[in-house]
Amino acid sequence: MATTTQSVFAFEDGDGKDKQLLGGKGANLCEMTQIGLNVPPGFVIATTACLDYLAAPEQGLPAALMEEVRAQMRAVEEKTGKGFGDPDNPLLVSVRSGSAMSMPGMMDTILNLGLNAATLQGEIRATGDARFGYDAYRRFIQLFGKVALGIDDAVFDTAFEAIKRAAHARQDVDLSARELEQVCERFLALVREHTGQPFPEDPYQQLELAIQAVFNSWQGKRAVDYRRQFHITPEMANGTAVNVVTMVFGNRGEDSATGVAFTRNPGTGENRLYGEYLVNAQGEDVVAGIRTPKPIDRLADEMPEMATALAELRDKLERHYREVQDFEFTIERGQLYCLQTRNGKMNATAMVRTSVEMVEEGLIERERALLRIAPDLLEQMLFPRLDPGVVAESVAQGLPASPGAASGIAVFDADRAEQLGREQGLKVILVREETKPEDIHGFFAAAGILTSRGGKTSHAAVVARGMGKPCVAGAEGISVDVERREARVGLTRFREGEIITIDGTSGKVYIGAIATVEPEFTAELGTLLGWADAHARLRVLANADTPDDARRARRYGAVGIGLARTERMFNDVERLPIVIEMIVAETPEQRQDALDRLLPLQRADFQSLFEVMSPNPVTIRLLDPPIHEFLPDAQVLEREIADLRALECGARGLGVLAGAMGLLHAEDTLRHEVDRARRLVEPALVEEAIAKKEAMLRKVRLLYETNPMLGHRGVRLGITFPEIYQMQVRAILEAAAECAKAGIEVHPQIKVPQVCTAQELRMVRASVETIHAEVAERYGAPVAFRFGTMIEVVRACMRAESLAEEADFFSFGTNDLTQATFSFSREDAENKFLPLYNQSGILQDNPFDVLDRKGVGKLMELAVEWGRRVKPNLHVGICGEHGGHPDSIAFCHQAGLDYVSCSGPRVPVARLAAAHAALAGRQ
Ligand code: PEP
Ligand code: MG
Repeated sequence: MATTTQSVFAFEDGDGKDKQLLGGKGANLCEMTQIGLNVPPGFVIATTACLDYLAAPEQGLPAALMEEVRAQMRAVEEKTGKGFGDPDNPLLVSVRSGSAMSMPGMMDTILNLGLNAATLQGEIRATGDARFGYDAYRRFIQLFGKVALGIDDAVFDTAFEAIKRAAHARQDVDLSARELEQVCERFLALVREHTGQPFPEDPYQQLELAIQAVFNSWQGKRAVDYRRQFHITPEMANGTAVNVVTMVFGNRGEDSATGVAFTRNPGTGENRLYGEYLVNAQGEDVVAGIRTPKPIDRLADEMPEMATALAELRDKLERHYREVQDFEFTIERGQLYCLQTRNGKMNATAMVRTSVEMVEEGLIERERALLRIAPDLLEQMLFPRLDPGVVAESVAQGLPASPGAASGIAVFDADRAEQLGREQGLKVILVREETKPEDIHGFFAAAGILTSRGGKTSHAAVVARGMGKPCVAGAEGISVDVERREARVGLTRFREGEIITIDGTSGKVYIGAIATVEPEFTAELGTLLGWADAHARLRVLANADTPDDARRARRYGAVGIGLARTERMFNDVERLPIVIEMIVAETPEQRQDALDRLLPLQRADFQSLFEVMSPNPVTIRLLDPPIHEFLPDAQVLEREIADLRALECGARGLGVLAGAMGLLHAEDTLRHEVDRARRLVEPALVEEAIAKKEAMLRKVRLLYETNPMLGHRGVRLGITFPEIYQMQVRAILEAAAECAKAGIEVHPQIKVPQVCTAQELRMVRASVETIHAEVAERYGAPVAFRFGTMIEVVRACMRAESLAEEADFFSFGTNDLTQATFSFSREDAENKFLPLYNQSGILQDNPFDVLDRKGVGKLMELAVEWGRRVKPNLHVGICGEHGGHPDSIAFCHQAGLDYVSCSGPRVPVARLAAAHAALAGRQ
């Protein structure tokens, strides 16, 4: 088919912005040429030519296209002063693929094209280096043989190895010019054997075949699979362009060199050229590690003129791209060429520093400084991570439940963690099958948490995230044996006291210690996040239950607490017995007695949260989990009762023995001992203990639920045991009144969990108002507060209008709402079927991680719309784990939410994500 429009573009002419037409690499080469960088002359064959060719590949390349190519080659010859196929001054080119989307290594490239028996000799004469010539030639024959002639790589490799063996050469570089010449001869013979034809000597024939081969590689299996895997659609990239570029060599003598550089230091962000180079070498030598490159600073001594040229190149690149560049250069006989440039990949510290400094230098504006950083990247600056230089093999893979890495000795229960961690100051990793609220003291003492069951919203995950401690959850390959104080993973075993390392960012578990890199919250990060806040509409609050969590969240920039889970405060070792008394109480009086003792403790909790957060709002959620979670396990109780019964028999036996002592004529001291033992193990005491344990067991059985997550929890609990919520409400309002009395500005918010009907809210609200009036009277002044509801069941979304009549604010609990929408257990789904669902594409993402916009999100949108229909100023936010994830934050912005609340350490990520969401909306 004849091409009617232009298909081939010189680098001087192609539109550097048109990646669809010229591919990413081609467009970039055009752009670099046109901004005056010294790019080796060349041209791009457009993707449209590729598509035309692929429509009828059996017809070969259209004659008109080859005409354009020839015309461009003539122009290149003119620019370089060399001739394509000229034995005296040969022009060699590379032929490279490049589509609109980067697909590294998926398509083909051929180097040194233009070499043949005659031009090879010309090249050797020009360089005076026969070894270089034959080396280039044998590489060309192999690449061309493979890519353009379809000969298996292994054919060449086997022959090459045989010659190496015969020459006793360990490495390629050990081969002499003569031996490389033999390699070339052998390769040429192999081409003839496999194709029945001699190796093409005509450079234009070589070029035509090479272009065809690169076009064909677009439809090669590798490329097709890659596009499918990464969802690259024809709209994103359609066909590959072909770039024909003059070869330049950095190995043409002591005035030649090759190198790679970043315009700024990618590790620190320092505004200084960073990179390395090798004199008289080609790029491959750097990659192969045959010679050690020199730091770029040395170039000023070795080639001062080139150092100046490089500094100019650096400035030009940054001024044009307004981004840190990672570029490749070659110096050929005192001429500096830029071969490639792309945006530099940097760590978080460097990204943040360069953002701030480029704004200060006037290179970019603040918006761009914010948008160039992916919010999740900031996590690196907030958590320790494994030293990237260490290579280690993991023994198990779990869910990356809370980021950061930690090494420490394995311990298998919370008490031991406290003993070894807190009391003996050792670094411990708490390893459990799953954690429960009563393990909380173990969390405080541990450097990290590892569980073999549970998902990313399991207790372990949520608590660890709140504390900013690393957690790997649901590492199902590990079986934990608490009794034996050991864990097994495959054939490996680790015991209490052995060091393990967990990486909560990747979910990997390692045996032994691995070095970590400490986080750094830099001044530049503070500056950047300040700019983010100025652009964001969503406010970022934190989920925090303790003053320590609250303080850290505030340091990270949280402007309030969006969720304080009060159940966490019940788990203190001193409080749990009182909470248990409250639960097992047989009479209202007994229950009130326990609540009276809890009241001052809760009041103090709230007071300190208010103080830390003043003058920002603090949202306290009334008790949520089913209360049996605070009671011991039924099986443990049964075992204890059996032990006590055995002891009871023993106690009776001791009484019999004491009576028999007279008959035994035992010595006085022995009689004494028996008497003492008898007094110690009083049958009545043992009986009393059994009675208590049995009462507890009865209660545990009474409270047992098959589905506690969907059972007697949240507001259902508050309605069946109103005294519990009353105590909490009183504690909140009294704490606020105490603060107000001390001149501390407070904004308490009370929220009710698991609500599904307005009647529930109305009932709790009535009780709140009664207590509010009482407290106001006692303190002589009312404390303003807001009353709201969690929205975490589907019915609450559907009834948003009537709930809004009772609530000042809505707070989406998307952990439960996701569970409820999918009917997926949030404790189990992530380990059981979700991975397969994700792999097979049934679900694109894990909905407990990334908010499911189509289902959960739709419900949220409806609830916001309906709620605000009744109450236009209804304050709406999110406090599920999604509140800290950029994609979900973008959705929350679009859905018109007022705030997101996330675990303290995610606050910086959320602040940047909120700014991104706002800026994206504006574009
Ligand atoms: C939620 O369900 O999203 C929530 C914040 O509550 P919890 O995780 O405590 O159930
Ligand atoms: Mg919930």
